[in-house]
Amino acid sequence: MHSVIEHEKLYGAHHYEPLPVVLTRGEGVYVWDDQGNRYMDMMSAYSAVSHGHCHPELVNALTEQAKKLAVVSRAYYTDKLGDFLQKVCEAARQEKALAMNTGAEAVETALKAARKWAYTVKKVAENKAEIIACEGNFHGRTIVIVGMSTEPQYRNGFGPFPAGFKLIPYGDADALRKAITPNTAAFLVEPIQGENGIIVPPAGYLKECARICRDNNVLLICDEIQTGMGRTGKFLASDHDDIHPDAVLLGKALGGGLLPVSVFLARREVMDVFTPGDHGSTFGGNPLAAVVGAKALDILFKENLIERAEELGTYFREKLEKLKSPLISAVRGKGLLIGVEINPRYHSAREICLQLLKQGVLSKETHHTVIRFAPPLIITKEQIDEAIKKFSHVLAQAEAHVC
Ligand code: PLP
Repeated sequence: MHSVIEHEKLYGAHHYEPLPVVLTRGEGVYVWDDQGNRYMDMMSAYSAVSHGHCHPELVNALTEQAKKLAVVSRAYYTDKLGDFLQKVCEAARQEKALAMNTGAEAVETALKAARKWAYTVKKVAENKAEIIACEGNFHGRTIVIVGMSTEPQYRNGFGPFPAGFKLIPYGDADALRKAITPNTAAFLVEPIQGENGIIVPPAGYLKECARICRDNNVLLICDEIQTGMGRTGKFLASDHDDIHPDAVLLGKALGGGLLPVSVFLARREVMDVFTPGDHGSTFGGNPLAAVVGAKALDILFKENLIERAEELGTYFREKLEKLKSPLISAVRGKGLLIGVEINPRYHSAREICLQLLKQGVLSKETHHTVIRFAPPLIITKEQIDEAIKKFSHVLAQAEAHVC
């Protein structure tokens, strides 16, 4: 085995099962391994590298700010946070933002805000607030969050879990209507379930959910940590349904592929439930993260990455659909968040990913049957053609193997 992999395995926890490649460098849509081989990155770090690897303007903003001031206690103001918060609020059309680091922290922040809003504004009786989430969700890995999961592996061995959560089928607005009680604080939902295999709900689902939530005084919280920042061809995936959620979560690409930067965004009435000391984070909102987050937003708009995701995503999906391989049972997605379902009767998605790796294309299976194509949004048509050619070659080889 490769000595670098052995080294990592010796000292590291075995909580991931990476493909056997050791990456050392990245630029744009490409990464290179320690042997100098080049790969096209179709994972973008689970949609965190939308701007491409080591975007020069982002790296420059990061290094210039790192030379000036990187991290201070939130016991003081800095000259960078306000500008970042304004930009992210304007982009997401929300009134206020609270900066955290990882996606899971933004989710936890949303859950705390929803519960406190239920007690202080909606006047739910103490400790009775309920939050509704969806089966098949992925919102992160903390105890509270995996407590909401329906994936046995995410939960097994980690209980007991906190009370106050209810699960309903994804994509079923009627189930939401039936699950709401006077104690319901919020409905937490992904506009597309990314980690569950790029599951796109029926058209109009979120619009109907928004109406149900409004009618019942329930907060609609959209987890756009994976789908936001233009990934699906709109700034927010919920924009496809032309809705205005009570709260939105962003992360991943907000850090420009350089740092963990996440935010909980909400309307004023919801955010104002937090008072000094209620919530915090040592690193959340530090000047380095604020500068990178603001620059990540600037570049997203300046380089028309949202429009690119829409146009090139459609192009990519059409090309995938035209492959007409018996190994493919479905192509799903919006913008440049695409899942290809592999028929498990013939091959596992991991086998196909291993073959793609040999061809210089990095992807990763989700749930054994789905291959993800979520490249940086800066990808070109020519690069998509190159990826399709290689994928088609891998499929042809795999089909021959089946016969
Ligand atoms: N929410 C969604 C929709 C996600 O896809 C993810 C990560 O994949 C998270 C939350 C958790 O983000 P993080 O891994 O930064 O904690």
